[in-house]
Amino acid sequence: MKIAVYPGSFDPMTNGHLDILKRAASLFDHLIVGVLVNQNKKCLFSPEERVDMINEATHDLENVRVMHFNGLLVDFCDKVGATAVIRGLRAVSDYEYEVQMFAANYKLNPKVETIFLMSQPKYSFLSSSVVKEIAFYGGHIEDMVTPAIAEALKNRMKG
Ligand code: ADP
Repeated sequence: MKIAVYPGSFDPMTNGHLDILKRAASLFDHLIVGVLVNQNKKCLFSPEERVDMINEATHDLENVRVMHFNGLLVDFCDKVGATAVIRGLRAVSDYEYEVQMFAANYKLNPKVETIFLMSQPKYSFLSSSVVKEIAFYGGHIEDMVTPAIAEALKNRMKG
């Protein structure tokens, strides 16, 4: 049984994340989406809200499970029995950070392999922060996130 973890902040999940998620799910028996609970990073949505949003968007994918986690990624992989970590790569700008993360995780546990999937060109400039900024100014975000997430963003910006 091959299990992979797709970790991230997902604050909130974009269509770029969802695309990587679906492609990764088709490669593994099980894909666990790991929503990072990071006390140092100020998030717009709580870990529970982020998990709920991803669950809603992936309810038709039978081999996907969404969980939140804190602490080391390699420990989370151990806990759920995953032997691979999925990361999405958009542009060269992602590369340096991802190499650092890979090196750290590899040193901690070389048995957990990191697999990079390239973003589709149409999503390569899409990020959670860009979506939040556009939503903040009342711009059109409907082709960047799922309808439910667009709604949640608009409501959060109002409140
Ligand atoms: P982190 O805080 O770990 O960078 P993110 O939620 O921003 O978490 O991203 C999680 C993963 O998804 C990372 O591997 C990131 O490179 C990837 N990712 C983010 N946006 C996109 C996108 N538009 N297309 C493909 N991959 C993406």
